[in-house]
Amino acid sequence: MIAPLYSDRPDAAGRFGAFGGRYVPETLVPALDQLEQEFEKAWNDPAFRAEFQQYLVEYVGRPTPITEARRLSEDTGLHVVIKREDLNHTGAHKINNAIGQCLLALRMGKRRIIAETGAGQHGVATATVCALFGLDCTVYMGEEDTVRQELNVFRMKLLGAKVVPVSSGTKTLKDATNEAMRDWVTNVRDTHYIIGSVVGPHPFPYIVRQFQRVIGDETRQQYQDRYGRLPDAVVACVGGGSNAIGFFTAFVPDPSVKIVGVEAGGLGLASGQHAAPLTLGQPGVLHGAYSYLMQDDDGQIIGTHSVSAGLDYPGVGPEHSQLKDSGRATYTAATDEEALDALQWVARKEGLIAAFETSHAFAVLHNRDLFPTGTRVVVNMSGRGDKDMGTAAQILKL
Ligand SMILES: *Cc1c(COP(=O)(O)O)cnc(C)c1O
Repeated sequence: MIAPLYSDRPDAAGRFGAFGGRYVPETLVPALDQLEQEFEKAWNDPAFRAEFQQYLVEYVGRPTPITEARRLSEDTGLHVVIKREDLNHTGAHKINNAIGQCLLALRMGKRRIIAETGAGQHGVATATVCALFGLDCTVYMGEEDTVRQELNVFRMKLLGAKVVPVSSGTKTLKDATNEAMRDWVTNVRDTHYIIGSVVGPHPFPYIVRQFQRVIGDETRQQYQDRYGRLPDAVVACVGGGSNAIGFFTAFVPDPSVKIVGVEAGGLGLASGQHAAPLTLGQPGVLHGAYSYLMQDDDGQIIGTHSVSAGLDYPGVGPEHSQLKDSGRATYTAATDEEALDALQWVARKEGLIAAFETSHAFAVLHNRDLFPTGTRVVVNMSGRGDKDMGTAAQILKL
């Protein structure tokens, strides 16, 4: 077999293969350079790593366990194990990255934090960590999302953050990200921008991956301790791609482990109403990086749809684009309907209520082409579903 075209880190130009890089205004280059240098120093500093680890243990509640899913296994003829990121403080994986980046901001002497958020999960994680470290926090959120996710807006305010509604464009995540970038360009001296996924200009995709790789590093060890071998396959949902890359990274060097990422198929791939850039998009530039994205023939970003706000994004992290093109990972999509079915299936069979995002990953366990009978698979449960129960109740009418 030909060795996969995979490098563990981006090249000097910040690229994973052809993807990534830095497409930013000149004013941001010094800040990105500083961030890259500071991260390298911190990541190689045992004291920084120990401090990061201590917060993950004592504040987030890591390590999260793996759970054998006997009833899902029975139903599918697979051997299914679940990595429990839903058990983290604030209910998802996002806090791993928020803590790491806040510690970096402190090292750089930046005490003002900004972030973008879609559904509000990354905003809540960032507001939480800013409260913990006493940092000033501003979160940009599309106006439409502030209405859809009222409760998370309140949470962020309760945690002491300022929430700025963004009324440009489609009034959603893409526009909130534009606004956060604009703020950063203006206030870069005293401000650090905590991007919530493995997207944006170099070095963000690399930094966020390193802070999230604890998911896969733990899983690999736990699986070997419990079963004395590696799984045959790992599967995770892909929005920007941070939970997936954090989970996949530990397994990329093992060619025996199949890697599957699941995008949002929305109303169906044929409908055009989806958020599946790896499955159906073309490479282009968005938010400072070159990667697969959903665009029209003129290169304009096209509207996305998913029942899950966390997957409702037209772009994806550059490293996923490399994993796709090299053939090392397989990307597929699950529709809104399939995800909602999976949500109910996992709840009834395992007593676990998954986030809408995560439900997309569970949905593909029914696919015997991807996972032949007997496959030993680990699903990353990126978050719990409490935040989605209002919407679920309206749709499912149980
Ligand atoms: C934000 C979120 C996602 C999507 O973001 P990624 O960067 O792709 O991980 C997935 N699951 C949950 C629970 C989320 O909160």
